[in-house]
Amino acid sequence: MADPFFTPISGFDLPRFAGIPSFMRLPHVGLDHARIGEVEIGLIGVPWDAGTTNRPGPRHGPRQLRDMSTMIRAQNDATGIRPFEARNCADLGDVGPNPADLMDSLTRITAFYDKVKAHGIKPLTAGGDHLTTLPVLRAMAKDGPLGMIHFDSHTDLFHSYFDGRMYTHGTPFRRAVEEGLLDPKRVVQIGIRGTAYDSEDRDFADSVGIRVIPIGEFHARGVEDVMAEAREIAGTGDTYVSYDIDFVDPAFAPGTGTPEVGGPNSYQALQVVRELQGVHIVGADLVEVSPPFDQSGNTAYLAASIMFELLCVMV
Ligand code: MN
Ligand code: MN
Repeated sequence: MADPFFTPISGFDLPRFAGIPSFMRLPHVGLDHARIGEVEIGLIGVPWDAGTTNRPGPRHGPRQLRDMSTMIRAQNDATGIRPFEARNCADLGDVGPNPADLMDSLTRITAFYDKVKAHGIKPLTAGGDHLTTLPVLRAMAKDGPLGMIHFDSHTDLFHSYFDGRMYTHGTPFRRAVEEGLLDPKRVVQIGIRGTAYDSEDRDFADSVGIRVIPIGEFHARGVEDVMAEAREIAGTGDTYVSYDIDFVDPAFAPGTGTPEVGGPNSYQALQVVRELQGVHIVGADLVEVSPPFDQSGNTAYLAASIMFELLCVMV
């Protein structure tokens, strides 16, 4: 029996367009809340885009995702999973970044997730640009390197950008491998495409044993076959799931900074997550939703739906 405190507000009690929007209408339980110790999965916003190199805006993502996530109901239509009954879920609020200091923001984000991990809470994060994942991994990988299943148009494995900038949304997983946060042999990157400056990122992936599945191979093999390989690569160990909304074709998710055409549709975007059942997921994120480029709100609604699918495979 689910604890009423951790049950989202039903649309039968208060219409879904009414009320203060928290993630999926869950209770807001900050880190100093009396019941923080009972939370099992924490939904967290990181409104930060200091790593963005082109079109900005993901700092506005969490607020927009909270709003659109009020559309989510209790039960998964494809799997029947009712995540809010399976685990105590709560909205832990936002991590407050320092908008004037990237390095300080990295420290603040890791400090927040250190506390989340200390409470034994699995985080489901709404970004923020993709640099957000690095300080999260610094906290989550304290006990040893993690595997990772990564959906994206881009590898985010570049060494640096412009005048040697080491911390951008194009570099988080290069840093994570260098820092020993990820076990590259247990990392798979799915959906990679688009024009490139060069192949430096792919050469690095090859050199450390990261498996890259380009979009052509994804379309040729299909979701089930690709995801069976992804599950095999992640194995039975602790695994993080990082989902960049630009994995999805911009016809379905235009509201992002660096869209790339030729991607999966919105059904496939959900299907790949459903195929994660059985993976030992210790945390997940959904990043790079940029409301200023999301005229219809469809990107944020798809992203909120992907977060619900992630929640369903985390419980
Ligand atoms: Mn990315
Ligand atoms: Mn990307």
